[in-house]
Amino acid sequence: MSSVRKPIIPKPPRTRQKVLVILQEQCKQCDLCIQFCPKKVLCADFSKYNKKGYHPVTTCDLDACVNCGFCEMICPDMAIFLSEREEAKEAYEKGALDEGTLIPEFMGDGREHEEESN
Ligand code: SF4
Ligand code: SF4
Repeated sequence: MSSVRKPIIPKPPRTRQKVLVILQEQCKQCDLCIQFCPKKVLCADFSKYNKKGYHPVTTCDLDACVNCGFCEMICPDMAIFLSEREEAKEAYEKGALDEGTLIPEFMGDGREHEEESN
């Protein structure tokens, strides 16, 4: 039997059932989610600071997300997670999101959203 371990590469779902939610005010820019995302979806947004003085995480390549949940599992501050699409959409449309909540699927990657609101 081979002792070589094969990497686990998640297969992309046909449609993403869940959407990424990033609580940018809770992010401490530890970079763990960026390093562990197998699809290089995430990056720090160097164009902004949160109230803690960190550059919060955003998405740089959202289309590559495979809903694997590694970012949610690795984040020590529970600042990033996957949410059911309908639930997130409803909260977004009702304006029921806390300050600093980013749902890139609906809002763009944050920088786009800021431009829209300017
Ligand atoms: S769920 Fe998180 S870790 Fe997995 S591909 Fe999407 S952004 Fe990356
Ligand atoms: S793991 Fe959490 S705290 Fe660390 S950079 Fe990612 S979202 Fe921010």
